[in-house]
Amino acid sequence: MTATCGLCERDLEHGYLCPGCALGTARRLDRMPRLYEALAAFLHPGGRRPELGRSRPTEAPMPIAEPAFSLRGPGGIVGVLEDWRSAMQADRGWGEPAREGGTERRVAVAARALAMNLEWIAASWPMAGPFAEEIRGLERDVASIVNPPERSLRLGNCPAVYEDGVVCGAVLRVPAGTAKVECRWCGCEYPPSTWLELRSLQGGEAA
Ligand SMILES: [Zn+2]
Ligand SMILES: [Zn+2]
Repeated sequence: MTATCGLCERDLEHGYLCPGCALGTARRLDRMPRLYEALAAFLHPGGRRPELGRSRPTEAPMPIAEPAFSLRGPGGIVGVLEDWRSAMQADRGWGEPAREGGTERRVAVAARALAMNLEWIAASWPMAGPFAEEIRGLERDVASIVNPPERSLRLGNCPAVYEDGVVCGAVLRVPAGTAKVECRWCGCEYPPSTWLELRSLQGGEAA
């Protein structure tokens, strides 16, 4: 009988995670406390450029950046790690782990406890696959905030004029990896030969 890695679906002789995926999961767990910390700088949209400092005193409440906020909240990184730790301990016949201290410390404790049991998890825990997958997803969620993928290129605003003389004005973007630009609002298409002109139409408006 053969087994399959619960993360990459490679054939295994036995167990639930291949050595590569077990190592990858261990490294992700290792990074969790730093990821949690890194998110702090992204709690407010204005904080996206922490190196620029906060220019204004926060008299008016700044809008909260949802994704960063929820990842740092009870259902975010700490909740995911602690729930998996509880499940792991229950399946090993151990007691419920304590959830003490501040969130930052709880993230570090839960991540370390899971990392320390990774050998058992990979070899003997049927939940290893879903667990490893969720940890990978968690890291991706954080990375999408802290280190977002190359944004689509902004060309400017759609210059199409409607029948009533109104300019469409919707934002036109070149989606990453393609050369097809279509206004999502009016459906006008803009082949690459028109991009330069589009950009020059827009004056100094930067993305
Ligand atoms: Zn694998
Ligand atoms: Zn348009």
